[in-house]
Amino acid sequence: MRVHVVGNVCVDTTFQLGRFPRPGETLNASSHIDGLGGKGANQAVAAARTGADVRFHAAIGDDAAGLWIREQLSRDLDASHLTMLALPSDRSTIIVDVRGENLIVTGASCAAAFDPLADGGFATSIERGDIVVMQGNLLPDVTTACLQAARSAGAMTILNPSPLAVGSTPCMDAVSLAVVNAGEAEQLTGTGDAAAAARELIRQGADSAIVTLGAAGCLVADREGRIDRFAAPKVDVVDTSGAGDVFCGCLAGCLAAGISLAAAARIAVRAAAISVGRPGTLGSCPDRQEMKILME
Ligand code: ADP
Repeated sequence: MRVHVVGNVCVDTTFQLGRFPRPGETLNASSHIDGLGGKGANQAVAAARTGADVRFHAAIGDDAAGLWIREQLSRDLDASHLTMLALPSDRSTIIVDVRGENLIVTGASCAAAFDPLADGGFATSIERGDIVVMQGNLLPDVTTACLQAARSAGAMTILNPSPLAVGSTPCMDAVSLAVVNAGEAEQLTGTGDAAAAARELIRQGADSAIVTLGAAGCLVADREGRIDRFAAPKVDVVDTSGAGDVFCGCLAGCLAAGISLAAAARIAVRAAAISVGRPGTLGSCPDRQEMKILME
């Protein structure tokens, strides 16, 4: 079984400053560094590190950043399925002050223009039994159309609808498994009770649902009304950014390896917990060796 991650990729440039600049002010950063980012890329890399055969469908620009993104992704997966658009590659500028607060500005021309179904390549690459993972960075209509195409081709579809699009509700009818964090669960269902929210996502059309609960791990609900909870190991938190992406990518990779949903969720909770104990978004994701040990 192959894992197709369909979504976005960008260059994250992080500037470390003593304080945020005021309007009109220029400050020198104490350090700055480029990193690979975008929820799609994070999830694709996490899935690849489980040993899964991953196809990452995303758009890059026809610029130096696009080439850099391709090269970075190639360290973990086959990056030959990226679509190059005549646009600037997507970028985020992240300013972090001494308190660890951040300011983020994103330019996402490629994600906004990307339609994996446009050239037919995506739809024809899906085979029965494949796993298709999507997030909330592409246009909502594009995401829905891709999920429907994947479902029609006999794939299992996983939707992690983050970031939630303002004014649009994700279509759960074409979703095999919805994965949301506690805040998203409440926004999508109107209830702060995670089990009730998971049941509501299933009522909306998903076959099963997972609500991730930060330090409390996650909860898995299925159509038969069964609820399983998986606690996270205790960790000294260093940086929680990207934890949800490690969870989703690892989960998809485990499912592709034929591991049951409950066992995959237990492994994904532990992989994400490792990532919060280390700095960075993608840099904190368990490597292949660590994933292998978690999956044994
Ligand atoms: P998101 O990062 O999308 O907001 P969560 O905060 O629910 O989602 O975290 C996703 C997963 O990351 C959790 O299910 C858990 O496995 C892990 N995690 C997050 N925060 C912690 C923490 N403080 N301690 C241990 N694990 C954590």
